[in-house]
Amino acid sequence: MEEATVTEFDHPTFRLAVAQFDQAAEVMGLDPNLRERLKAPQRALTVSLPIRMDDDTVKVFMGYRVQHDSARGPSKGGIRYHPEVNLGEVAALSMWMTWKTAIAGLPYGGAKGGVKVSPSTLSLGELERLTRRYAAEIFPIIGPDKDIPAPDIGTNAQVMAWLMDTYSEQVGFAVPGVVTGKPLAIGGSAGREEATGRGVVNVTLEALRHLNIDLSNTTVAIQGMGNVGSHTARIIRQAGAKVIAISDQLGGLYNPHGLNIPDVLQRYQEGKEPLGSMHKFGDPLTNEELLTTDCTVLIPAAVAEQITTHNAAKLRCRILVEAANGPTTLEADSILADRDIFTIPDILANSGGVIVSYFEWVQDVQRFFWKEADIHERLEEIIVAAFQRTLTFAQENKTTMRIAALINGIDRVAQAHQLRGLYP
Ligand code: NAD
Repeated sequence: MEEATVTEFDHPTFRLAVAQFDQAAEVMGLDPNLRERLKAPQRALTVSLPIRMDDDTVKVFMGYRVQHDSARGPSKGGIRYHPEVNLGEVAALSMWMTWKTAIAGLPYGGAKGGVKVSPSTLSLGELERLTRRYAAEIFPIIGPDKDIPAPDIGTNAQVMAWLMDTYSEQVGFAVPGVVTGKPLAIGGSAGREEATGRGVVNVTLEALRHLNIDLSNTTVAIQGMGNVGSHTARIIRQAGAKVIAISDQLGGLYNPHGLNIPDVLQRYQEGKEPLGSMHKFGDPLTNEELLTTDCTVLIPAAVAEQITTHNAAKLRCRILVEAANGPTTLEADSILADRDIFTIPDILANSGGVIVSYFEWVQDVQRFFWKEADIHERLEEIIVAAFQRTLTFAQENKTTMRIAALINGIDRVAQAHQLRGLYP
């Protein structure tokens, strides 16, 4: 199995996910048969997507959907449109979704999908045709009781609307529960768009409380100003912290007195100028500088493998909150643990997205919708409970928050497998 896992899904991110799993499995003494089973995703589909481009030529894009585990319920996970999407990376992300849903206690397994494409190079029509063809190709393995996609890097509510429409047209009636992260008008949930950022802030506030750090003395640096980064910046500033550095893939902006986030975001989202040129708000800085900025809380909210052996020793934060998936390599993780940087791992820190996706799915299935205040309250209740459970386990067992979270998630999945047994 070891061989097959490596050959089929080999990729740095998959190796990271498996190494983290192995570390936790070792500490918890996981049954070797389950250890063998849980490393390999249950199902992986590779599709080629021929798309008629606006200039009438046909281009083929590669797409994937990987379902890691469904012992606890239908699988759930986002769809990523990015030029570096690859089967192994998608498989790693699907494994993290399995632990993430289990840690939060949601009745789901883990999945992830992706298309190898740079969405900003496509016209709106090309993006729609690509999305609809992808939806048609993965149609046999998705559905509200099977596998429920959601947005991730490079996809948004409009992409989810096209996925929902394509699925619904195939079955002949509207099926809002087939995807989450949809627009409100077709069964989306209040509070879903900002949910990941809101959850990031909920756990950050818990960590500050745990470490006795006052919010008014808290400075924050955030890498990535997409869905997760921008909402995190806005909400944590509203909570009373100072956001002193932000960035996107081109670089960022620094102001030690605190950035005026609403004004910066408004200008940025209007597409008027790159962050690094907004001199009236702060000084330009590179992504590498952002990661090593002197701050209370560092929040990577962009792509994987940003904190490595090259910069882990140089980080100057007290708390690291992994809003992105897989931002820290295994080697860097042990450097951070030695340096006593309090790390909230991705599978806990960014679970607000899937928690509110679960609320959206429940509302769609019941055809009964909740108020935004109820969504915020229930999100906070679930994510704070997961944080506290993880913290208690880490303290009692003298281990890191990552190992504690992994053990918590893996244990719930292992129990489900044990109870269901092995088919046939
Ligand atoms: P997004 O596409 O909305 O934004 C991504 C941001 O990252 C952009 O600002 C982009 O400029 C920046 N970026 C890309 N490459 C970069 C690089 N090399 N260096 C610095 N910045 C870079 O994506 P998102 O939905 O905000 O997702 C961000 C992260 O959060 C991803 O790791 C994703 O898997 C994770 N996540 C997202 C959700 C969600 O609900 N959207 C939920 C859980 C986890």
